[in-house]
Amino acid sequence: MAEALAGSRDGRAREQLRGRLGELEREIAGLRPGRPDQGTQIGYGKRAGDHVNEVTEQRDRSRAAAELEHLAEQVRRALERLEQGGYGICERCGREIAGPRLEALPWAVRCIDCAGLP
Ligand SMILES: [Zn+2]
Repeated sequence: MAEALAGSRDGRAREQLRGRLGELEREIAGLRPGRPDQGTQIGYGKRAGDHVNEVTEQRDRSRAAAELEHLAEQVRRALERLEQGGYGICERCGREIAGPRLEALPWAVRCIDCAGLP
């Protein structure tokens, strides 16, 4: 756990995170030209109707944008933690996030044990 190693890891992570955040923001802007908030949640009925295509497309775009926004939020939080020094520490249990997990998911703010928990 050498300091120098952690320093270069953080520098690399910062570049990855900033790059990813830029991509995500462009994608979100493309999906959602209007307001960047959660938007209207369309009811999830299973009945097929005449305007189902329009509703489905709108819902797909809205859902895709919401997923990207969720990811962007994680990236922003990870970047914040890089600046504040808590990067690589699980925000839920406070343990270190495993190196391979951070390499695969540089924006991970939780360890693998906490990832699926509320
Ligand atoms: Zn944890």
